[in-house]
Amino acid sequence: MKFATMLSDVLPSLFKSPMTEMYPFERKEPPTHLRTLPKWNRENCSGCGLCAVDCPSQAIEMIVLDKKEKRFVMCFHIDRCTFCAQCTYSCHQGCLEMTPENWELATLDNKALTLCLGDRADVEEFLAIISSPDTA
Ligand code: SF4
Ligand code: SF4
Repeated sequence: MKFATMLSDVLPSLFKSPMTEMYPFERKEPPTHLRTLPKWNRENCSGCGLCAVDCPSQAIEMIVLDKKEKRFVMCFHIDRCTFCAQCTYSCHQGCLEMTPENWELATLDNKALTLCLGDRADVEEFLAIISSPDTA
């Protein structure tokens, strides 16, 4: 690059305000079509498990505690999800959707990378089952 060309790039930038974004102190709205972790609307979920079977990254676990009572727990392995949206196409009940809502997923805590959703009591029951020494 010629010196004169370089100067024509550098000089204007000395008089502009920085482009740096002050995240996380300032947050912008995410783009509306951003794909983040799928959102599970469990009201119509039948517990069929198709979303988990079809997920190419094995990022979903569907746990059926009681099918009749519709007691389901869905665990997302956030670190495996590639945001491909396959699960949303596989679910015939329309329970899964890609939204820009849940995009701040970075963490240093490995445990936080598994997100279990469902009725609070059901999630607690499931977590108690998997942490029990008998299932270790
Ligand atoms: S978006 Fe893709 S990778 Fe993520 S849970 Fe759904 S199917 Fe799996
Ligand atoms: S495919 Fe849909 S209905 Fe079946 S378990 Fe997944 S979210 Fe529920």
